[in-house]
Amino acid sequence: NALNISEFVQDLIANMQVLKKGEQRINLDVKGEDMVLLDANKFRHVLENLISNAIKYSSDGTEIDLHIQNDNGALEVMIQDHGIGIPEEEQVHLFNKFFRATNTGSVQGTGLGLTIVKRYVELMNGTITFKSKSGKGTNFTIKLPNIDYEENSIGH
Ligand code: ATP
Ligand code: MG
Repeated sequence: NALNISEFVQDLIANMQVLKKGEQRINLDVKGEDMVLLDANKFRHVLENLISNAIKYSSDGTEIDLHIQNDNGALEVMIQDHGIGIPEEEQVHLFNKFFRATNTGSVQGTGLGLTIVKRYVELMNGTITFKSKSGKGTNFTIKLPNIDYEENSIGH
């Protein structure tokens, strides 16, 4: 679908039930062109999972930064929280099915969200990377290629 990236993400954030409790603020910053071609359903799932993790694993009153850059249809999405982080020695398991870190305390989860996120990003021909520091916060970066370019390059 062709969509206006900044409207799409603003609507998505406004509709996230978990955010209506209102204890964390999301600072959204969108740069580049307005329109982008995307698999909107997959992109929505990916963002909802990463945003809900950022909220779940950080304290009330901390801020979450969401940067999106549209470079002629190639998207870079960066989400940074200032939460509990992921212990370094456990990070290697992060995208494994049912993985939950040892520092989640009473926060509930199935450990499937990120497995799905990674799968969806790959189905969109993109990449996902992260940096995390225990007690400081976590940063996920997603890069999605321009869909037109991908179609043109089939057969090369
Ligand atoms: P759900 O399937 O409901 O999303 P979940 O949040 O436990 O459950 P994932 O989203 O796959 O599962 O995340 C796996 C684990 O990675 C989490 O349980 C948590 O330990 C850790 N984690 C993920 N995102 C963050 C984050 N932003 N900050 C700190 N830890 C995180
Ligand atoms: Mg999750």
